[in-house]
Amino acid sequence: MREIAPEPPAVVRNDVAAIQELYKNVVPSYARFDLAISHGAGSYVFDVTGKRYLDLGGGIAVCCIGHANPEITEALVQQSKKIVHISNLYYNEPQGRLAREIVNALAPGKVFFCNSGAEADEGLFKLARKFGHDEGRFEIITATNSFHGRTLAGISATGQPKVKKGFEPMVQGFREVPYNDLDAMRAAISPATAAILVEGIQGEGGINVAAPEYLLGLRQLCDEQKLLLMIDAVQCGHFRTGRFQSFQRILENVPHAQGFLPDAIAMAKSIGGGFPMGAFWVRNKYADLLSAGTHGTTFGGTPLACAVALKVMEVIQRDKLADNARSTGSYLKTELERLASKFPDIVKTVRGLGLLLGFELAPGIPAFAKSERAPSIQFVNKLHELGLLAIPAGNQVIRLLPPLNLSRREAEEGVQLIEAAIAKLRA
Ligand SMILES: *Cc1c(COP(=O)(O)O)cnc(C)c1O
Repeated sequence: MREIAPEPPAVVRNDVAAIQELYKNVVPSYARFDLAISHGAGSYVFDVTGKRYLDLGGGIAVCCIGHANPEITEALVQQSKKIVHISNLYYNEPQGRLAREIVNALAPGKVFFCNSGAEADEGLFKLARKFGHDEGRFEIITATNSFHGRTLAGISATGQPKVKKGFEPMVQGFREVPYNDLDAMRAAISPATAAILVEGIQGEGGINVAAPEYLLGLRQLCDEQKLLLMIDAVQCGHFRTGRFQSFQRILENVPHAQGFLPDAIAMAKSIGGGFPMGAFWVRNKYADLLSAGTHGTTFGGTPLACAVALKVMEVIQRDKLADNARSTGSYLKTELERLASKFPDIVKTVRGLGLLLGFELAPGIPAFAKSERAPSIQFVNKLHELGLLAIPAGNQVIRLLPPLNLSRREAEEGVQLIEAAIAKLRA
Protein backbone atom coordinates (compact mmCIF):
# COMPACT_ATOMS: atom_id res chain seq x y z
CA MET A 1 0.00 0.00 0.00
CA ARG A 2 1.47 3.36 -1.05
CA GLU A 3 1.19 5.61 2.00
CA ILE A 4 3.57 8.38 1.05
CA ALA A 5 2.11 10.90 -1.37
CA PRO A 6 4.35 12.09 -4.19
CA GLU A 7 5.79 15.60 -4.03
CA PRO A 8 3.77 18.23 -5.86
CA PRO A 9 5.48 19.34 -9.08
CA ALA A 10 8.27 21.87 -8.48
CA VAL A 11 6.83 24.34 -10.96
CA VAL A 12 3.24 25.19 -10.09
CA ARG A 13 1.37 25.64 -13.31
CA ASN A 14 -2.15 26.92 -13.19
CA ASP A 15 -3.64 25.12 -16.14
CA VAL A 16 -7.16 24.69 -14.72
CA ALA A 17 -8.34 27.35 -17.15
CA ALA A 18 -6.68 25.57 -20.08
CA ILE A 19 -8.40 22.31 -19.16
CA GLN A 20 -11.73 24.06 -18.70
CA GLU A 21 -11.27 25.51 -22.17
CA LEU A 22 -11.01 21.96 -23.56
CA TYR A 23 -14.37 21.21 -21.96
CA LYS A 24 -15.99 23.48 -24.53
CA ASN A 25 -16.08 20.21 -26.46
CA VAL A 26 -17.81 18.27 -23.69
CA VAL A 27 -21.59 18.09 -23.35
CA PRO A 28 -22.38 20.45 -20.47
CA SER A 29 -24.59 18.01 -18.54
CA TYR A 30 -22.59 18.49 -15.32
CA ALA A 31 -22.19 21.57 -13.14
CA ARG A 32 -18.56 20.91 -12.30
CA PHE A 33 -16.49 22.33 -9.47
CA ASP A 34 -13.56 24.55 -10.48
CA LEU A 35 -11.08 21.76 -9.82
CA ALA A 36 -9.00 19.85 -12.35
CA ILE A 37 -7.60 16.69 -10.82
CA SER A 38 -4.34 15.38 -12.15
CA HIS A 39 -3.52 12.27 -10.11
CA GLY A 40 -4.06 10.44 -6.87
CA ALA A 41 -2.32 8.26 -4.31
CA GLY A 42 -4.21 6.29 -1.70
CA SER A 43 -6.76 8.54 0.01
CA TYR A 44 -5.36 11.71 -1.58
CA VAL A 45 -5.68 13.41 -4.94
CA PHE A 46 -3.74 16.29 -6.44
CA ASP A 47 -5.03 19.01 -8.71
CA VAL A 48 -3.11 20.36 -11.67
CA THR A 49 -1.68 23.18 -9.56
CA GLY A 50 -0.14 20.61 -7.21
CA LYS A 51 -2.58 21.21 -4.36
CA ARG A 52 -3.33 18.09 -2.32
CA TYR A 53 -6.80 17.03 -1.20
CA LEU A 54 -7.89 14.33 1.21
CA ASP A 55 -10.50 12.51 -0.87
CA LEU A 56 -13.46 11.53 1.28
CA GLY A 57 -15.63 11.33 -1.84
CA GLY A 58 -13.81 8.40 -3.39
CA GLY A 59 -15.09 9.25 -6.88
CA ILE A 60 -18.63 8.85 -5.44
CA ALA A 61 -18.14 5.57 -3.58
CA VAL A 62 -16.05 4.04 -6.36
CA CYS A 63 -12.34 4.10 -5.43
CA CYS A 64 -12.80 1.65 -2.56
CA ILE A 65 -9.11 0.71 -2.15
CA GLY A 66 -7.76 4.18 -2.87
CA HIS A 67 -6.27 5.94 -5.86
CA ALA A 68 -3.44 4.51 -7.94
CA ASN A 69 -3.53 1.36 -5.87
CA PRO A 70 -0.48 -0.64 -7.02
CA GLU A 71 -2.35 -3.95 -6.73
CA ILE A 72 -5.04 -2.69 -9.12
CA THR A 73 -2.33 -1.45 -11.47
CA GLU A 74 -0.66 -4.86 -11.36
CA ALA A 75 -3.94 -6.69 -12.03
CA LEU A 76 -4.65 -4.37 -14.97
CA VAL A 77 -1.18 -4.84 -16.42
CA GLN A 78 -1.05 -8.62 -16.01
CA GLN A 79 -4.55 -9.27 -17.36
CA SER A 80 -4.19 -6.81 -20.25
CA LYS A 81 -1.06 -8.66 -21.33
CA LYS A 82 -3.14 -11.85 -21.56
CA ILE A 83 -6.42 -10.59 -23.00
CA VAL A 84 -8.57 -7.49 -22.50
CA HIS A 85 -11.82 -8.41 -24.21
CA ILE A 86 -13.32 -11.39 -25.97
CA SER A 87 -17.16 -10.91 -25.83
CA ASN A 88 -19.80 -12.94 -24.08
CA LEU A 89 -19.98 -15.44 -26.94
CA TYR A 90 -17.23 -17.32 -25.09
CA TYR A 91 -16.33 -18.32 -21.56
CA ASN A 92 -13.58 -16.51 -19.68
CA GLU A 93 -12.19 -17.65 -16.37
CA PRO A 94 -12.06 -14.29 -14.51
CA GLN A 95 -15.81 -13.77 -15.08
CA GLY A 96 -16.63 -17.22 -13.73
CA ARG A 97 -14.37 -16.74 -10.72
CA LEU A 98 -15.82 -13.31 -9.92
CA ALA A 99 -19.38 -14.66 -10.11
CA ARG A 100 -18.37 -17.42 -7.68
CA GLU A 101 -16.85 -14.84 -5.29
CA ILE A 102 -20.03 -12.76 -5.30
CA VAL A 103 -22.26 -15.80 -4.78
CA ASN A 104 -19.98 -16.99 -1.95
CA ALA A 105 -20.13 -13.57 -0.30
CA LEU A 106 -23.91 -13.44 -0.61
CA ALA A 107 -26.02 -16.54 -1.15
CA PRO A 108 -26.76 -19.14 -3.81
CA GLY A 109 -27.74 -17.46 -7.05
CA LYS A 110 -26.28 -16.23 -10.33
CA VAL A 111 -24.62 -13.02 -11.49
CA PHE A 112 -24.89 -10.96 -14.68
CA PHE A 113 -22.08 -8.54 -15.44
CA CYS A 114 -22.47 -5.15 -17.05
CA ASN A 115 -20.67 -1.81 -16.98
CA SER A 116 -22.50 0.61 -14.70
CA GLY A 117 -25.12 1.01 -12.02
CA ALA A 118 -27.72 2.15 -14.53
CA GLU A 119 -27.21 -1.03 -16.51
CA ALA A 120 -27.38 -3.17 -13.38
CA ASP A 121 -30.71 -1.52 -12.52
CA GLU A 122 -31.90 -1.97 -16.08
CA GLY A 123 -31.19 -5.68 -15.68
CA LEU A 124 -33.40 -5.73 -12.58
CA PHE A 125 -36.20 -3.98 -14.46
CA LYS A 126 -36.04 -6.60 -17.21
CA LEU A 127 -35.89 -9.40 -14.64
CA ALA A 128 -39.06 -8.06 -12.99
CA ARG A 129 -40.83 -7.69 -16.35
CA LYS A 130 -39.92 -11.26 -17.33
CA PHE A 131 -41.00 -12.52 -13.92
CA GLY A 132 -44.45 -10.96 -14.16
CA HIS A 133 -44.95 -11.24 -17.88
CA ASP A 134 -47.09 -14.35 -18.16
CA GLU A 135 -49.51 -12.97 -15.59
CA GLY A 136 -49.63 -9.55 -17.18
CA ARG A 137 -47.75 -7.98 -14.29
CA PHE A 138 -45.10 -5.37 -15.05
CA GLU A 139 -45.19 -2.64 -12.43
CA ILE A 140 -42.20 -1.86 -10.19
CA ILE A 141 -42.71 0.22 -7.06
CA THR A 142 -39.78 2.37 -5.95
CA ALA A 143 -39.24 4.98 -3.24
CA THR A 144 -39.34 8.75 -3.08
CA ASN A 145 -35.82 10.26 -3.12
CA SER A 146 -34.40 7.07 -4.61
CA PHE A 147 -31.83 7.03 -7.40
CA HIS A 148 -31.65 4.29 -10.02
CA GLY A 149 -29.49 5.66 -12.82
CA ARG A 150 -29.82 7.96 -15.80
CA THR A 151 -31.22 5.72 -18.51
CA LEU A 152 -34.82 6.36 -19.54
CA ALA A 153 -36.09 3.48 -17.37
CA GLY A 154 -33.66 4.53 -14.61
CA ILE A 155 -35.05 8.06 -14.40
CA SER A 156 -38.56 6.63 -14.58
CA ALA A 157 -37.75 4.47 -11.55
CA THR A 158 -35.96 7.27 -9.69
CA GLY A 159 -38.07 9.05 -7.09
CA GLN A 160 -36.77 12.55 -7.82
CA PRO A 161 -38.61 14.93 -10.17
CA LYS A 162 -35.39 16.79 -11.10
CA VAL A 163 -33.97 13.83 -13.07
CA LYS A 164 -37.18 13.35 -15.08
CA LYS A 165 -37.76 16.98 -16.02
CA GLY A 166 -37.66 17.52 -19.77
CA PHE A 167 -37.53 13.83 -20.62
CA GLU A 168 -41.22 12.99 -20.35
CA PRO A 169 -43.06 10.82 -21.15
CA MET A 170 -41.50 8.39 -18.70
CA VAL A 171 -41.22 4.66 -19.28
CA GLN A 172 -44.47 3.26 -17.96
CA GLY A 173 -44.80 0.83 -15.10
CA PHE A 174 -43.03 2.68 -12.28
CA ARG A 175 -44.61 4.13 -9.19
CA GLU A 176 -43.01 5.67 -6.13
CA VAL A 177 -44.04 5.82 -2.50
CA PRO A 178 -42.33 7.36 0.55
CA TYR A 179 -39.24 5.46 1.75
CA ASN A 180 -39.33 3.55 5.03
CA ASP A 181 -43.14 3.61 4.90
CA LEU A 182 -44.44 0.05 4.80
CA ASP A 183 -48.10 1.05 4.83
CA ALA A 184 -47.60 3.28 1.79
CA MET A 185 -45.89 0.41 0.00
CA ARG A 186 -48.65 -2.02 0.87
CA ALA A 187 -51.29 0.43 -0.32
CA ALA A 188 -49.50 1.00 -3.63
CA ILE A 189 -49.46 -2.65 -4.69
CA SER A 190 -51.86 -3.34 -7.55
CA PRO A 191 -52.72 -6.49 -9.54
CA ALA A 192 -50.13 -5.27 -12.07
CA THR A 193 -47.27 -5.07 -9.57
CA ALA A 194 -44.35 -7.42 -10.17
CA ALA A 195 -41.58 -6.07 -7.95
CA ILE A 196 -40.39 -3.63 -5.33
CA LEU A 197 -37.04 -1.87 -5.74
CA VAL A 198 -35.39 0.09 -2.92
CA GLU A 199 -31.88 1.07 -1.88
CA GLY A 200 -30.57 -0.36 1.39
CA ILE A 201 -29.35 3.15 2.11
CA GLN A 202 -30.46 5.96 -0.17
CA GLY A 203 -27.26 7.63 -1.35
CA GLU A 204 -28.14 10.39 -3.80
CA GLY A 205 -31.28 11.01 -1.76
CA GLY A 206 -29.17 12.18 1.20
CA ILE A 207 -28.06 9.06 3.14
CA ASN A 208 -31.33 7.63 4.41
CA VAL A 209 -30.93 4.22 6.03
CA ALA A 210 -33.68 1.60 5.67
CA ALA A 211 -35.18 0.65 9.02
CA PRO A 212 -34.80 -3.05 9.91
CA GLU A 213 -38.60 -3.43 10.23
CA TYR A 214 -38.99 -1.87 6.79
CA LEU A 215 -36.71 -4.44 5.13
CA LEU A 216 -38.34 -7.33 6.99
CA GLY A 217 -41.80 -5.95 6.20
CA LEU A 218 -40.98 -5.60 2.50
CA ARG A 219 -39.80 -9.20 2.42
CA GLN A 220 -43.03 -10.37 4.00
CA LEU A 221 -45.10 -8.23 1.65
CA CYS A 222 -43.28 -9.60 -1.39
CA ASP A 223 -43.74 -13.18 -0.19
CA GLU A 224 -47.46 -12.65 0.42
CA GLN A 225 -48.10 -10.88 -2.88
CA LYS A 226 -45.67 -12.92 -4.98
CA LEU A 227 -43.44 -9.95 -5.84
CA LEU A 228 -39.70 -9.74 -6.36
CA LEU A 229 -37.84 -7.82 -3.67
CA MET A 230 -34.98 -6.05 -5.42
CA ILE A 231 -32.27 -3.98 -3.72
CA ASP A 232 -30.27 -1.30 -5.48
CA ALA A 233 -26.91 -1.69 -3.73
CA VAL A 234 -24.93 0.28 -6.29
CA GLN A 235 -23.83 2.85 -3.70
CA CYS A 236 -24.44 1.16 -0.33
CA GLY A 237 -22.99 -2.25 -1.23
CA HIS A 238 -19.55 -3.78 -1.57
CA PHE A 239 -18.51 -3.78 2.10
CA ARG A 240 -18.99 -0.02 2.54
CA THR A 241 -21.16 -0.39 5.64
CA GLY A 242 -18.99 -3.04 7.28
CA ARG A 243 -20.75 -6.00 5.64
CA PHE A 244 -20.87 -7.04 1.99
CA GLN A 245 -24.41 -5.66 1.72
CA SER A 246 -25.96 -2.85 3.72
CA PHE A 247 -29.03 -4.95 4.55
CA GLN A 248 -26.73 -7.42 6.31
CA ARG A 249 -25.39 -4.60 8.46
CA ILE A 250 -28.83 -3.08 9.05
CA LEU A 251 -30.27 -6.44 10.12
CA GLU A 252 -27.35 -7.46 12.33
CA ASN A 253 -28.57 -8.60 15.74
CA VAL A 254 -32.19 -8.06 14.72
CA PRO A 255 -34.36 -10.96 15.89
CA HIS A 256 -35.81 -13.19 13.13
CA ALA A 257 -33.73 -11.41 10.47
CA GLN A 258 -31.09 -14.09 9.87
CA GLY A 259 -32.81 -15.61 6.86
CA PHE A 260 -33.49 -12.27 5.15
CA LEU A 261 -32.54 -12.26 1.49
CA PRO A 262 -33.72 -10.11 -1.39
CA ASP A 263 -34.47 -11.74 -4.75
CA ALA A 264 -32.08 -9.58 -6.73
CA ILE A 265 -29.35 -7.03 -6.04
CA ALA A 266 -27.83 -4.38 -8.32
CA MET A 267 -24.14 -3.58 -7.84
CA ALA A 268 -21.63 -1.20 -9.41
CA LYS A 269 -19.57 1.76 -8.11
CA SER A 270 -17.02 0.10 -5.77
CA ILE A 271 -17.06 -3.30 -7.46
CA GLY A 272 -14.25 -2.41 -9.88
CA GLY A 273 -12.41 -0.07 -7.51
CA GLY A 274 -12.44 2.60 -10.24
CA PHE A 275 -12.56 0.35 -13.28
CA PRO A 276 -16.08 0.72 -14.75
CA MET A 277 -18.19 -2.29 -13.88
CA GLY A 278 -21.69 -3.24 -12.81
CA ALA A 279 -23.43 -6.50 -11.96
CA PHE A 280 -26.61 -7.91 -10.65
CA TRP A 281 -27.10 -10.98 -8.52
CA VAL A 282 -30.34 -12.95 -8.63
CA ARG A 283 -31.24 -15.72 -6.24
CA ASN A 284 -31.37 -19.27 -7.52
CA LYS A 285 -35.13 -19.48 -7.69
CA TYR A 286 -35.24 -16.76 -10.37
CA ALA A 287 -31.74 -17.14 -11.77
CA ASP A 288 -32.81 -18.66 -15.08
CA LEU A 289 -35.56 -16.16 -15.92
CA LEU A 290 -33.18 -14.29 -18.21
CA SER A 291 -32.47 -17.22 -20.52
CA ALA A 292 -30.20 -17.29 -23.58
CA GLY A 293 -30.91 -14.41 -25.90
CA THR A 294 -33.06 -12.36 -23.51
CA HIS A 295 -30.38 -10.02 -22.17
CA GLY A 296 -26.85 -9.09 -23.09
CA THR A 297 -24.03 -6.59 -23.35
CA THR A 298 -20.89 -6.35 -25.42
CA PHE A 299 -18.55 -5.22 -22.67
CA GLY A 300 -20.07 -6.77 -19.53
CA GLY A 301 -17.73 -9.07 -17.64
CA THR A 302 -14.61 -8.65 -19.76
CA PRO A 303 -11.58 -10.57 -18.49
CA LEU A 304 -9.96 -7.21 -17.69
CA ALA A 305 -12.85 -5.81 -15.61
CA CYS A 306 -13.30 -9.12 -13.79
CA ALA A 307 -9.59 -9.52 -13.04
CA VAL A 308 -9.58 -6.08 -11.45
CA ALA A 309 -12.79 -6.72 -9.50
CA LEU A 310 -11.37 -10.03 -8.26
CA LYS A 311 -8.29 -8.19 -7.01
CA VAL A 312 -10.47 -5.60 -5.29
CA MET A 313 -12.45 -8.37 -3.55
CA GLU A 314 -9.23 -10.11 -2.54
CA VAL A 315 -7.68 -6.96 -1.06
CA ILE A 316 -10.86 -6.07 0.83
CA GLN A 317 -11.07 -9.55 2.33
CA ARG A 318 -7.34 -10.00 2.97
CA ASP A 319 -6.96 -6.59 4.65
CA LYS A 320 -10.27 -6.88 6.53
CA LEU A 321 -11.44 -3.59 5.05
CA ALA A 322 -15.08 -4.24 5.95
CA ASP A 323 -13.96 -4.14 9.59
CA ASN A 324 -12.04 -0.95 8.88
CA ALA A 325 -15.11 0.59 7.21
CA ARG A 326 -17.05 -0.25 10.34
CA SER A 327 -14.52 1.07 12.89
CA THR A 328 -13.24 4.09 10.98
CA GLY A 329 -16.82 4.87 9.92
CA SER A 330 -17.95 4.67 13.52
CA TYR A 331 -15.14 7.03 14.56
CA LEU A 332 -16.08 9.50 11.79
CA LYS A 333 -19.76 9.33 12.65
CA THR A 334 -19.11 9.95 16.35
CA GLU A 335 -16.92 12.93 15.49
CA LEU A 336 -19.54 14.34 13.09
CA GLU A 337 -22.13 13.95 15.83
CA ARG A 338 -19.81 15.86 18.14
CA LEU A 339 -19.65 18.65 15.55
CA ALA A 340 -23.44 18.59 15.23
CA SER A 341 -23.90 19.10 18.96
CA LYS A 342 -21.12 21.73 19.13
CA PHE A 343 -22.34 23.66 16.06
CA PRO A 344 -26.11 23.04 15.76
CA ASP A 345 -26.36 26.26 13.72
CA ILE A 346 -24.29 24.55 10.97
CA VAL A 347 -24.79 20.78 11.27
CA LYS A 348 -28.32 19.55 11.85
CA THR A 349 -28.08 15.76 11.72
CA VAL A 350 -25.64 12.96 10.91
CA ARG A 351 -26.76 9.77 9.14
CA GLY A 352 -25.32 6.59 7.69
CA LEU A 353 -23.41 3.41 8.44
CA GLY A 354 -19.76 2.51 8.05
CA LEU A 355 -18.09 4.62 5.39
CA LEU A 356 -21.35 5.79 3.85
CA LEU A 357 -22.05 8.89 5.92
CA GLY A 358 -23.88 12.13 5.46
CA PHE A 359 -24.45 15.24 7.48
CA GLU A 360 -27.32 17.57 6.87
CA LEU A 361 -26.64 21.28 7.08
CA ALA A 362 -28.83 23.42 9.31
CA PRO A 363 -31.30 25.64 7.43
CA GLY A 364 -30.53 29.34 6.94
CA ILE A 365 -26.76 29.42 7.49
CA PRO A 366 -26.05 33.20 7.30
CA ALA A 367 -22.70 32.77 5.49
CA PHE A 368 -24.54 31.10 2.59
CA ALA A 369 -27.25 33.76 2.26
CA LYS A 370 -25.31 35.89 -0.21
CA SER A 371 -25.20 33.22 -2.92
CA GLU A 372 -27.97 31.55 -4.89
CA ARG A 373 -26.07 28.26 -4.92
CA ALA A 374 -27.23 25.33 -2.81
CA PRO A 375 -25.77 25.29 0.72
CA SER A 376 -24.32 21.83 0.08
CA ILE A 377 -22.36 23.15 -2.92
CA GLN A 378 -21.14 26.19 -0.98
CA PHE A 379 -20.04 24.00 1.91
CA VAL A 380 -18.19 21.62 -0.39
CA ASN A 381 -16.45 24.61 -2.00
CA LYS A 382 -15.25 25.65 1.47
CA LEU A 383 -13.94 22.12 2.01
CA HIS A 384 -12.10 22.29 -1.32
CA GLU A 385 -10.37 25.51 -0.22
CA LEU A 386 -9.15 23.65 2.85
CA GLY A 387 -8.01 20.60 0.89
CA LEU A 388 -10.85 18.12 1.33
CA LEU A 389 -13.14 16.46 -1.22
CA ALA A 390 -16.67 15.47 -0.19
CA ILE A 391 -19.82 14.95 -2.26
CA PRO A 392 -23.03 16.98 -2.04
CA ALA A 393 -26.36 15.11 -2.02
CA GLY A 394 -29.26 17.40 -2.82
CA ASN A 395 -29.21 20.93 -1.43
CA GLN A 396 -28.49 20.28 2.25
CA VAL A 397 -26.48 17.08 2.67
CA ILE A 398 -22.73 16.46 2.45
CA ARG A 399 -21.70 12.85 1.83
CA LEU A 400 -18.51 11.07 2.87
CA LEU A 401 -17.79 7.91 0.86
CA PRO A 402 -14.03 7.45 1.24
CA PRO A 403 -11.92 4.42 0.38
CA LEU A 404 -12.52 1.45 2.68
CA ASN A 405 -8.82 1.50 3.62
CA LEU A 406 -9.01 5.05 4.96
CA SER A 407 -6.66 5.19 7.95
CA ARG A 408 -7.58 6.52 11.36
CA ARG A 409 -5.08 9.35 10.89
CA GLU A 410 -6.69 10.32 7.59
CA ALA A 411 -10.13 10.21 9.20
CA GLU A 412 -8.84 12.52 11.95
CA GLU A 413 -7.48 14.89 9.32
CA GLY A 414 -10.88 14.87 7.62
CA VAL A 415 -12.68 15.77 10.84
CA GLN A 416 -10.21 18.62 11.49
CA LEU A 417 -10.79 20.02 8.01
CA ILE A 418 -14.58 19.81 8.35
CA GLU A 419 -14.36 21.52 11.73
CA ALA A 420 -12.12 24.21 10.20
CA ALA A 421 -14.70 24.79 7.43
CA ILE A 422 -17.44 25.16 10.05
CA ALA A 423 -15.28 27.61 12.04
CA LYS A 424 -14.78 29.71 8.90
CA LEU A 425 -18.51 29.85 8.31
CA ARG A 426 -19.13 31.11 11.83
CA ALA A 427 -16.26 33.64 11.81
C1 LIG B 1 -24.79 5.79 -8.81
C2 LIG B 1 -26.03 5.01 -8.67
C3 LIG B 1 -26.68 4.43 -9.79
C4 LIG B 1 -26.21 4.67 -11.19
O1 LIG B 1 -24.95 4.16 -11.42
P1 LIG B 1 -24.15 4.60 -12.73
O2 LIG B 1 -22.90 3.78 -12.69
O3 LIG B 1 -23.90 6.07 -12.60
O4 LIG B 1 -25.00 4.30 -13.90
C5 LIG B 1 -27.78 3.65 -9.57
N1 LIG B 1 -28.24 3.43 -8.32
C6 LIG B 1 -27.66 3.97 -7.24
C7 LIG B 1 -28.20 3.67 -5.89
C8 LIG B 1 -26.54 4.78 -7.37
O5 LIG B 1 -25.98 5.34 -6.30
